[in-house]
Amino acid sequence: MTSAHLLLVVHTGADAAAHLVEADAEHPQLAVMDVAATRGDGIFETLSVVQGHSQALEAHLTRFERSARMLDLPAPDRGIWRDAIIAVAERFADHDEAWVKTVLSRGVEGQPLPTGWVYGTVSPDFRRERTEGLSVALLDRGYRSDVAQSSPWLLAGAKTLSYAVNRAAVREAQRRGADDVIFVSTDGQLLEGPTSTVVLKRGKRWSTPPDDVGILPGTTQADLFAAASQWGLEAVVEPLTPDDLRAADAAWLVSSVRHAAPVRAVDGVPMAVDAALSAAMNGFLHARRT
Ligand code: PLP
Repeated sequence: MTSAHLLLVVHTGADAAAHLVEADAEHPQLAVMDVAATRGDGIFETLSVVQGHSQALEAHLTRFERSARMLDLPAPDRGIWRDAIIAVAERFADHDEAWVKTVLSRGVEGQPLPTGWVYGTVSPDFRRERTEGLSVALLDRGYRSDVAQSSPWLLAGAKTLSYAVNRAAVREAQRRGADDVIFVSTDGQLLEGPTSTVVLKRGKRWSTPPDDVGILPGTTQADLFAAASQWGLEAVVEPLTPDDLRAADAAWLVSSVRHAAPVRAVDGVPMAVDAALSAAMNGFLHARRT
């Protein structure tokens, strides 16, 4: 792995004002009692960077603020975080694809100030996932689709640091011979992947599930849907079921760094891959400069 670059967002003083400090990503920076490490009590964003340009920057900052509100964290200083992301992304101008991650935790146990940092590194090669696609396992998430309304303390739809469950789900998929996961609610709604948004194509209709089923609003899906008409598609946000997925002409898992990965099988049953549209979607996503 090419070495990472790191910038810390440091909060100081009674007003917890934030400023940037550059740090060496090769050396430890986090206090052992930071709740990022001990409780996963914080939030993050992962942005894709193409030739030094961060993609969907404002949408990621907006979602970072949304997650902070959901966890009752201090509102991130948008200007400082934007500057930090841009500064780290620019270090990767010589690389075609990289990614930058922002993290904000509640801070060190017993101390009042949050901890924030931004780092970046070069992306893996996702050509195979983007062309050949992924086999997915449908896994029960164990929550109803109204979990965000009934039990907001479960933080459904927030981008929290507690991704151990998402990682465990991918290992379960691998045990079942699949590459990735699509979660389903206990009442049968199609939700999202552990790190991606589901998009279905049925005829000229592109669909994705609504956020209010307790999923993360995807920045990649939003950019694709805003551009749908250039492929003659109508983009619709609507409740979806596993049967809709199985009956779809094509499906994708879309996300910031991997971009658009077509689904080539669901629970071992092959699905058609729309190679031409997948290539067009990935070309569009790669070309974004903001
Ligand atoms: N859903 C979840 C749970 C995610 O973790 C992610 C991204 O990591 C997404 C959806 C896709 O979001 P984005 O397109 O903004 O990367």
